Amino acid sequence: MVFLIKMRVVILTCYPEMFPGSLGYSVIGNALKNKKFSLKIVNLHNFGIDKRGSVDDEPFGGGPGMVIRPDVIEKALNSITFKTDNYCKIFLTPSGQKLSQAKLNNLSKYDEMLILCGRFEGVDQRAIEILDFQEISIGDYVLSGGEIAAQVLVEGCIRLIPGVLGQPQSLLEESFSNNLLEYPHYTRPQTWEDIQGNKHEVPDVLTSGNHEKIDKWRKEKSVEKTKELRPDLYKKEI
Ligand code: SAM
Repeated sequence: MVFLIKMRVVILTCYPEMFPGSLGYSVIGNALKNKKFSLKIVNLHNFGIDKRGSVDDEPFGGGPGMVIRPDVIEKALNSITFKTDNYCKIFLTPSGQKLSQAKLNNLSKYDEMLILCGRFEGVDQRAIEILDFQEISIGDYVLSGGEIAAQVLVEGCIRLIPGVLGQPQSLLEESFSNNLLEYPHYTRPQTWEDIQGNKHEVPDVLTSGNHEKIDKWRKEKSVEKTKELRPDLYKKEI
């Protein structure tokens, strides 16, 4: 059988054993198995400056922690051959542009994506600028390394590739697709009796069979939830 790989992902990391990690499970794991995308993991230590594979050094100007050297990044990058012109190079860093659903939509259109995972205090700024990495943050908080952030970014992109999700229409209604959070979901049992014996019903409208009313109710709930939890998003919507 001929498989058409929709996206090639290359990860540069000091911890190759952290992959595929969460990318090996569920919908994304199936996409990997079915070759909807490929994952190549490059160990930065293979391009280290000495026999121990050292990749970092002390920061000029002093201060705590270590910084990944630019020559190591360059050598690792030069070991990769892009097969198309439609590729991007991303450095994950808390000081990058914040990731959003809109950004994921744009990134998912690339044929090839190379992601550099930082560690320690980060990466020498010259490597980021001269080797032309775009800097992306997955949120306003600091993790110890870029590996989990890379898995967040790749999972977010891959599920947008046509044919990856079983029910692609779910992409149209989920949170952020229109600057609104998604409406709440309910399933069986219709009456849930909790361990204290209290009964909790599913909202009547959802069992009415009236799809116009259900759509209206869901839209109202979406707006209500967005206003309450994410007023910043709601302002964008109106
Ligand atoms: N000194 C850096 C700073 O204050 O911005 C933090 C470095 S952090 C301890 C080590 C690495 O984790 C970073 O180089 C980056 O690759 C990754 N990382 C941590 N938080 C991240 C975030 N919010 N988004 C993307 N990558 C992150």
